[in-house]
Amino acid sequence: MDIKKIYMDSDALLDGHFRLSSGNHSQFYLQSAKVLEDPKTAKLLAYELAAQIKNSGLKIDTVCAPAIGGLIAGFALAQALDVRYIFAERVDGEMSIRRGFEVSKGERVLMCEDIITTGGSAMEAAAVVESLGGKIVGVAALANRGFCKRQNSNVTTKPNCKLPQDIPFFALEDFTFEMYSPDECPMCKEGSEAIKPGSRGN
Ligand code: ZN
Repeated sequence: MDIKKIYMDSDALLDGHFRLSSGNHSQFYLQSAKVLEDPKTAKLLAYELAAQIKNSGLKIDTVCAPAIGGLIAGFALAQALDVRYIFAERVDGEMSIRRGFEVSKGERVLMCEDIITTGGSAMEAAAVVESLGGKIVGVAALANRGFCKRQNSNVTTKPNCKLPQDIPFFALEDFTFEMYSPDECPMCKEGSEAIKPGSRGN
């Protein structure tokens, strides 16, 4: 399955000249919610990710996603794996599990995101699951920004990766883009102007 083409065709992977929230410039931008806009595509990607997880033999009771980014990917993956689904959400900046969701002692939980950059939000949510007695057995994402090593990929783990190294990380594709400070950006040097992603009518 050509994951990058699916992202491109969904306008989830944009090719241009972008100013990221970090202030750096990049030729590419991932607008990962766009790939889930069509439920058929969401289902296709979730089943592909689920197949990879099933093949690994990992036993999972529950998928947990951090809101908002992971909500749709997490639900679609839980459906494909045929397991329970819960989500964590931020309240006053703190990740928490609400809405009557419970976690049993020893429950085997897979954290799921739409995209893993450093994995910070997923790990904050994972800490809440663990505080309730759950056991985090793995992390999954549709897309990997290339800071963390996933199963079946040669991309190495970078120092800012926050995912634990002793549990598997599953993702469909690595999206590793060069980022440039504005004064070193080759696209700026060619005279083009960086745009803020989403500024095209949002
Ligand atoms: Zn630039």
